Amino acid sequence: MMRPFDELELTGRACTHLLELSEPRCRLHVDVVAPFLALRAAASAAGIDLVPVSSFRDFDRQLAIWNGKFRGERALLASDGARLDAVTLDCDARIAAILAWSALPGASRHHWGTDFDVIDAAATPTDYQPQLVPAEFAPGGVYAALARWLDTSSSAFGFFRPYVTPRGGVQPEPWHLSYAPLAEQARRQFTPAMLASALHNSELDGREQVLTQLDALFDRYVARIDPPDSCALLSPTLS
Ligand SMILES: [Zn+2]
Repeated sequence: MMRPFDELELTGRACTHLLELSEPRCRLHVDVVAPFLALRAAASAAGIDLVPVSSFRDFDRQLAIWNGKFRGERALLASDGARLDAVTLDCDARIAAILAWSALPGASRHHWGTDFDVIDAAATPTDYQPQLVPAEFAPGGVYAALARWLDTSSSAFGFFRPYVTPRGGVQPEPWHLSYAPLAEQARRQFTPAMLASALHNSELDGREQVLTQLDALFDRYVARIDPPDSCALLSPTLS
């Protein structure tokens, strides 16, 4: 077993578990760097330039995203992608709408350094801005070949995708990749009580309403994932 996470690392309030890479630019858990570079080398051999577009994100960054959506300052979307007007929704409806697309601060898997969002830079046309929408990763989409390659090849390097199937929680995010041996350790360590303690002292909009239903939100938006297969879990540790 690798070094356990501490509570601040699990909730995005510490950087002690991270390493910064310059090529490609990203911040990952120190024990995810070697497996990621091995995965990237294999992808490269298949003609794919595997690049993280979002890697580690801290609590304050996630808090800014949450509060921006809660206040209607950032686009808020229904689970079908339709635009919502936050100020016309009651508190519980805002919370549910935000959670379809964004994690609670303290509860993002991006805090762990084990999870990151990827694209294939080699398949990205000049002047094309990746949207990170499912259509890009579906057959015919700009990243369809990347999605197929991840399906067949990522588990040998320990990686899996926790948000592929619609499960009534987080919307499908086929671009979101996770290093199973370490992310599963983080998931087992992470509890609703840790999340509550991180949120108690925060400036989260809707905080009291979130804390009242925290156990249910945790079950639906944190615990409910597509689990890694045994191949990903048993991948050799490369660090
Ligand atoms: Zn992600």
